[in-house]
Amino acid sequence: MAAELPADDSTLCEFRPSPIHGTGGFARRRIEPETRVLQYRGELVSKEESLRRCQKNNTFLFYFDEAHDLDGQAAWNPARFLNHSCSPNCEARKLGQEIWIVAIRAIEPGEEITFDYGYDLEDYQDYPCRCGSPACRGYMVDTTLARHITRRALDP
Ligand SMILES: [Zn+2]
Repeated sequence: MAAELPADDSTLCEFRPSPIHGTGGFARRRIEPETRVLQYRGELVSKEESLRRCQKNNTFLFYFDEAHDLDGQAAWNPARFLNHSCSPNCEARKLGQEIWIVAIRAIEPGEEITFDYGYDLEDYQDYPCRCGSPACRGYMVDTTLARHITRRALDP
């Protein structure tokens, strides 16, 4: 894969080719539940700017608050490499003014770090899933609609 590897800024996570998709993040050592694994960094943009970027097929836009989204499509956001799983070991949480990928169970060394992207149901056919989990839904869908912004959700 041609994408540049992110700068190594985490002692918990390393990046290498993933059986799920492209490059993924893998645990360097055992990670305990509730550990902050990686910060999901990005550029804070207005909803209007977010919509423009969404329409250019940017899938790294994260709901941040009522007025802003976070655009994680940047070289300095290695968390953008983390893959989706339908049986994830992490979840994205907003902690204060930051979004963190937090372990929701113990993660063994070498295990791929995943979280549930939770894309909007109406867009689900755009996002087939190859996570390999026995609980795989086949698509990166979620009914909470809360975490990721989608093109459909931003339609007027
Ligand atoms: Zn899946």
